[in-house]
Amino acid sequence: LTLLGIETSCDETAAAVIRLAPEGTVEILSEKVHTQLEEHAPYLGVVPEIAARAHAELADQTIAAAMKDASISYSDLDAIAATSGPGLIGGVLVGMMTGKAIAQAAGKPFLAVNHLEGHALSPRLTHDCPFPYLLLLVSGGHCQFLEVRGLGDYRRLGSTIDDAAGEAFDKTAKLLGLGFPGGPAVERIGAAGDPKAIDFPRPLLNRPGLDMSFAGLKTAVARAAEAEDLTASRMADICASFQAAIVDVLSEKARRALEAFNPVGGNGKRFVVAGGVASNKAIRAGLEKVAEENGAVLIAPPMRHCTDNAAMIALAGAERLAGGLEHPEGDLGAGARPRWPLDEAAAKSDPAYT
Ligand code: ATP
Ligand code: MG
Ligand code: FE
Repeated sequence: LTLLGIETSCDETAAAVIRLAPEGTVEILSEKVHTQLEEHAPYLGVVPEIAARAHAELADQTIAAAMKDASISYSDLDAIAATSGPGLIGGVLVGMMTGKAIAQAAGKPFLAVNHLEGHALSPRLTHDCPFPYLLLLVSGGHCQFLEVRGLGDYRRLGSTIDDAAGEAFDKTAKLLGLGFPGGPAVERIGAAGDPKAIDFPRPLLNRPGLDMSFAGLKTAVARAAEAEDLTASRMADICASFQAAIVDVLSEKARRALEAFNPVGGNGKRFVVAGGVASNKAIRAGLEKVAEENGAVLIAPPMRHCTDNAAMIALAGAERLAGGLEHPEGDLGAGARPRWPLDEAAAKSDPAYT
């Protein structure tokens, strides 16, 4: 199956063409990403209206470039898949409408893909990663542990009850005047600091379960920033100590998740970490250690597949089509969904669940 994937749910305009062979091997024919960092940087965060306009300006050329790189024409495609939620609605609409228009013009099915399913399946783009596996999705918008049991079969084990970890990095950076996105800046400046200098809270660490909370950290960082002159060394200490708190929380929750995750049949434990925050070296090292201690293999997809991308959207569409989860004619009538939990059964009993 050859699919074009389109991703426009946040601040990346992306298109990719992939081929899924019957035995499950994936060939990435092309991938294009335009990151809107420059557009949003002056506002220290993603501005939905600016994102939607940028997607509208960039979608066509990004898709055309991906098709050209793949050296195929629309008639060679088996389907077109686009992120249909969850995400910023303006951007999602741009990607969906573009995907639907191409699908109709080419007489191919259109598939409405859940962005989170794309992230969940992303390790399968490059790794031999059979189901089941444990996934930590840790980005600017999400922070959750998922048990990926099979295609379309996901169970959320725990998630942040307020801010995502990446959001905490971004807010901390904003407080310290380090610009946007915050994660890379906090990591870079923190490298020169003492991670034990300030004892920041480890929210929910002493409570059972896999839920997390990072909103309180921002207040603690603000207090630490006001307590003393913000010299370069103080700034480095704050960044290092803040990062250490996140490492501790994610590592401990990962340890519990791995303890609870016991695939049957003596299958090896696979622990996948995806999302922009996964590029943080201290966090990666913490998770690596926990995986090793619990007899699990840590799988970290390449960075371009950890952040928002269209190859994972094309793959989710292709796997659903191959697995018979999609109507072969697709779903032109699908609407954009700002909220769309992966595990719908659990979501029905919890309206706040995203
Ligand atoms: P979504 O949540 O929808 O997947 P997003 O754009 O918020 O989308 P990503 O693009 O996956 O998420 O990742 C961006 C986030 O990752 C930002 O919050 C950024 O600060 C954080 N991040 C990037 N690099 C690092 C790093 N080295 N350390 C910590 N955080 C980082
Ligand atoms: Mg992003
Ligand atoms: Fe994402």
